[in-house]
Amino acid sequence: MAQSTVLRAKEDEQCYSFVLLSGHRIPAVGLGTWRSGSDASNSVSTAVLEAGYRHIDTAWEYGVHEEVGQGLKDAMDAGIERKDLFVTSKLWCSDLSPERVRPALLNTLEELRLDYLDLYLIHWPFRLREGASRPPQAGDVLDFDMEGVWREMEKLVAQNLVRDIGVSNFTLKKLNKLTSFAQTMPSVCQMEMHPGWRNDKMLEACQKNGIHVTAYSPLGSQENGRDLIHDPTVERVAKKVNKSPGQVLVRWAIQRGTSVIPKSTNPERIKENMHVFNWVLPEEDFNALSSIPDQVRATVLCFNIFMKRYSFDGFRYILKQKRVLHGEDLFVNKNDGPFRSVEDVWDHED
Ligand code: NDP
Repeated sequence: MAQSTVLRAKEDEQCYSFVLLSGHRIPAVGLGTWRSGSDASNSVSTAVLEAGYRHIDTAWEYGVHEEVGQGLKDAMDAGIERKDLFVTSKLWCSDLSPERVRPALLNTLEELRLDYLDLYLIHWPFRLREGASRPPQAGDVLDFDMEGVWREMEKLVAQNLVRDIGVSNFTLKKLNKLTSFAQTMPSVCQMEMHPGWRNDKMLEACQKNGIHVTAYSPLGSQENGRDLIHDPTVERVAKKVNKSPGQVLVRWAIQRGTSVIPKSTNPERIKENMHVFNWVLPEEDFNALSSIPDQVRATVLCFNIFMKRYSFDGFRYILKQKRVLHGEDLFVNKNDGPFRSVEDVWDHED
């Protein structure tokens, strides 16, 4: 993805935000809250009051709405105005049927103690039976009435309960289907994006349609994720530009024209991740980050060279990008159900 995207993306000098199709602004950096647990309340208030965040990303499924709501209340009690905050939440898979959309949103507002959301996203484009197992059993993954659900999302905008609506974890195929009937276009598409999974195809498709992209798991996530903080290219660039690896990864996302939602519950890292303005990654470093290979497969290539078994297949491996959050645990049942593999989940587009 060329760096010129940055210019097209209307990054605002003053308040560091991107303009959505609706004309509303989304702040370029937001705080992620997945796996923040009971720390979410302090993280949110620290982010807003001490680090200058105005954008918080959460979801019903993260189980932290009440903590996030408390953090937002603390920030507003300290003088931050609601209109200056941008709060995103997401409609979970078990509520992905038309009659459940409005009750789910009302419940989310109550948990967050808010009277409107800035952005409401379809979390994943798959319906799950309430109480579905992980991995799912037969009958856990159900049909999803995309048009019916989207109509209900559109009504939430008309009723001023939500300012913008959007999607997450969509493929090109699903995005094309949605835009074919949408009366209100999705303002935002939230997707996994970092140098190890750039997802250029979706970014380009969204930009062509004027749909803003938010990059999730920008640091490679955690636990079973990918440790980009210690990636040699990221470390080299960080040393060169005299920033931390986390800042380099967040800045890379902004320079692609995406907003970005790093998660942290550590006050110092929350602040660190916000210090990504008034400097740029030089083009050669941006490009180096945009061509980080898949390290596991790169090791296979080196081993093959050592064994004098270098092959063209090995070369293909080194260019491969890889998702961290592929949804296997949530949606794939190898023997029974609509998705027998991760490739099925992603419409065989990867
Ligand atoms: P991130 O890529 O943001 O990585 C978070 C991890 O990085 C944590 O372990 C955190 O630890 C650590 N970390 C944070 N800042 C730094 C830093 N500067 N240096 C070193 N380590 C750091 O992972 P997430 O998967 O949480 O993604 C971010 C957010 O995106 C989520 O919290 C959620 O809001 C959203 N998301 C949306 C999804 C969707 O389906 N729409 C799916 C996944 C995520 P510590 O807290 O200790 O600092």
